[in-house]
Amino acid sequence: MSKTMLMSAVQSSVNFSVNLFAYAPLVRMRGDASGSYKVKSSNACATRHRDKKSAGKVWLVGAGPGDPDLISVKALRLIRLADVLVYDRLVCPDLIGECRRDAIRIDVGKRPGHHPVPQQKIEEILCQQAAQGRTVVRLKGGDPFIFGRGGEEMLALKTAGIAVEIVPGITAAAACAASSGFPLTHRDIADKVTLVTAHYKDERDRTDWRALAADGSGTLVFYMGLSSVATIQQQLIKNGLNPQTPAALVENGSTAVQRTVYCSLDTLSETVTEQQLISPCLIVVGKVVALAASTETNLQLSELQSQKKD
Ligand code: SAH
Repeated sequence: MSKTMLMSAVQSSVNFSVNLFAYAPLVRMRGDASGSYKVKSSNACATRHRDKKSAGKVWLVGAGPGDPDLISVKALRLIRLADVLVYDRLVCPDLIGECRRDAIRIDVGKRPGHHPVPQQKIEEILCQQAAQGRTVVRLKGGDPFIFGRGGEEMLALKTAGIAVEIVPGITAAAACAASSGFPLTHRDIADKVTLVTAHYKDERDRTDWRALAADGSGTLVFYMGLSSVATIQQQLIKNGLNPQTPAALVENGSTAVQRTVYCSLDTLSETVTEQQLISPCLIVVGKVVALAASTETNLQLSELQSQKKD
């Protein structure tokens, strides 16, 4: 496809989405899950709201990885519809700005090592807002069910008898790979991809390092891995993964300030220090990383649009 053709394809898809948002009916409120689940929960809000018949509902919505253009049509419609928006630190501010002017906005953002609003309090807020009959959008970075505590929030809501529905989002692994220009799988070199958290609820390392390092035919993606990068490097090598395995560190993936730094497994930790990588950062280890074309392929949609106008 020529450059002009590509640009016009992008332009027409943008026009399409604008029209779609303008004329489409309000999002369908599917499935009332309230009361039909028996799930154990010790959560405080569970007991308090269990018996309330509520017309409110909570949508656990994935905002995508950072680039606001990577949110789904459904998620954007819901943000515009919401009475209440409860959002995290990694959600792009442009998306918060899409909500109604009279919507209640609640920032529950966590930073590494610092949780200003405890998880239980977040669940309380969701239950309380929905119990008042409001449409609540709980907007979470990436996908709500991938290391986003979406599972915990869903269970708390179900236990409280509050209707909840999940809207998936593009997770950091998919976005960082795409915008860095390497695939997560490839028929010749990677037949599986493993998403791993390097951060644990009680700080105990329960990772099965032997299984992760067992064969070099997969791609390993570590979320929240910056502070444990030395352990990741040591344990993978100790358990048999080739120290020369290509690795990538993707900081602020999919955003205008994305930085992808390439190294090998045995230089992972020193690279983080030397390059002063900061959160949010994803660590990818696997042969697929070597297929990266170039970080220059990470053109933002806005750049393409402005080039079209010139
Ligand atoms: N639910 C989110 C992940 C939440 S855990 C998702 O599906 O993507 C938070 C971790 O995700 C961060 O510490 C980082 O490792 C990773 N992450 C999230 N957004 C990122 C981004 N734009 N670039 C790089 N890593 C990101």
